[in-house]
Amino acid sequence: MKKIIMKFGGTSVGTGENIRQVADIVTQYSKEYRISVVVSALAGVTNKLLEVACQAKNGDEKLVKNVTDELLQKHREAVVSAITGKPLQKEVNQIIEEIVGELEKVLTGICYVGELTPKSKDYVVSFGERLSAPIVWGAIRDHKLETQCFTGKEAGIVTDSNFGDADPLMNFTMHLVRERLGPLLEKGVTPVVTGFIAADQNGIVTTVGRGGSDYTATILGVALEVDEVWIWTDVDGIMTTDPKLVSTAKLLPQLSYQEAAEMAIFGAKAMHPRALGPVSKENIPVRIRNAFHPENPGTLITKEPVADAKQAVKAVAMIKDVAMLNVNGAAMVGAPGSYAKVFDVLGKNNINVMMISTAVSEANISMIIKRNILSRAISNLEIALLERGGLVSEVTAEDDVAVIAVMGAYMKGTLGIASKIFATVAKKGINIRMIAQGSSELNISFVVKEKDAIEIVKAIHEEFNLDKT
Ligand code: ADP
Ligand code: ASP
Ligand code: MG
Repeated sequence: MKKIIMKFGGTSVGTGENIRQVADIVTQYSKEYRISVVVSALAGVTNKLLEVACQAKNGDEKLVKNVTDELLQKHREAVVSAITGKPLQKEVNQIIEEIVGELEKVLTGICYVGELTPKSKDYVVSFGERLSAPIVWGAIRDHKLETQCFTGKEAGIVTDSNFGDADPLMNFTMHLVRERLGPLLEKGVTPVVTGFIAADQNGIVTTVGRGGSDYTATILGVALEVDEVWIWTDVDGIMTTDPKLVSTAKLLPQLSYQEAAEMAIFGAKAMHPRALGPVSKENIPVRIRNAFHPENPGTLITKEPVADAKQAVKAVAMIKDVAMLNVNGAAMVGAPGSYAKVFDVLGKNNINVMMISTAVSEANISMIIKRNILSRAISNLEIALLERGGLVSEVTAEDDVAVIAVMGAYMKGTLGIASKIFATVAKKGINIRMIAQGSSELNISFVVKEKDAIEIVKAIHEEFNLDKT
């Protein structure tokens, strides 16, 4: 029998009815395949946990109680509609009550200490998946399949200690996962594993970055040497642009790992940016499928781009929640190592730079970073560089911008793509703040004011006839 990892995102497990549907899909396909399930938190729960963790830090104990009550209620409701057998409902509810009890203690602790470290934040957000997985497990068991529930840590996923954005220690992980899940699969048991969360070598809970259940799925896929990884979500697959922004978006039936990774990095939320790393090395195909329309074929991601779809531009994405950081200083001109100093400060302070652009005059570096770390970036740069003999004279920022990324493997060597893109933007009378094109030529990205972003996405989508592919 072929082995498949099936990952269900938060959008596919939003309610108890949806979880039932998930169990139906798993039951249906388990006649054909040996399935391991990876599950995200119920839609909205991870955001809620992050929010309450911050409020707990400010000592709002009453709010903590309100939120934990609300979460308990939400998951209990899901249990009732996902699972029919009363004894099983009771069993799962007990598990959920215990987990919510633990969450309440953790949050109360944060209230008293008044501190939220990346480590404790990971611990708090891990509760989303810890709460959803037992319900999915119960719903699958309700269908009379043999199944067992694991946290990422119990399944054997070991990561570095980069809390909030950890990466797996792949060899160690492969060994443990094979040892723990392998024999179960052989026996026909369906493991249900929490996505997103793992543990470092000291057993401390880590998370692998927002949207990380995709990554969990591909890590497990490689560890278990599966035939395919299926990512079930709420849209038909990877599309020419976000279908929630542009209704004429069309499905891309096939993409290469490189193209899909490029799209993931540049905002197609449909996939975690690092998720394709493990599977592309092992050549394991990934399918993106619609949990609400399992009859649709979805997007298949493999090594090669399809030969007959050589259109240069395949997709356009918009990345919100970013900010533009400008570092200016006449003293940077012609001074070897001046850029290195700027990036050294950012690197040492764990600030990831998503996009860079400079001019030959060298008096300015513009960068795009995540908006939520903007103030940290500015203060670190100011402390380190403004005082030190004036290499940098000014650090400015714009936090109301968005990146537009235009992508496609065959943009490489196709003349006139950039001019067509920028002419489209110019026609709208919109100002471009910054431009970057990687040497891979898989994408051209540029920065505009956020208020103009959707209009531009729509215009480019139309200009390159993506609505007709
Ligand atoms: P899940 O909960 O299944 O992980 P996500 O919200 O992480 O779901 O990702 C799916 C969402 O990604 C879709 O609902 C869609 O709005 C968004 N999205 C953005 N760009 C694209 C794209 N190019 N193709 C498909 N979906 C996209
Ligand atoms: N629940 C996590 C998040 O919201 C992981 C995921 O959904 O993939 O980021
Ligand atoms: Mg996701």
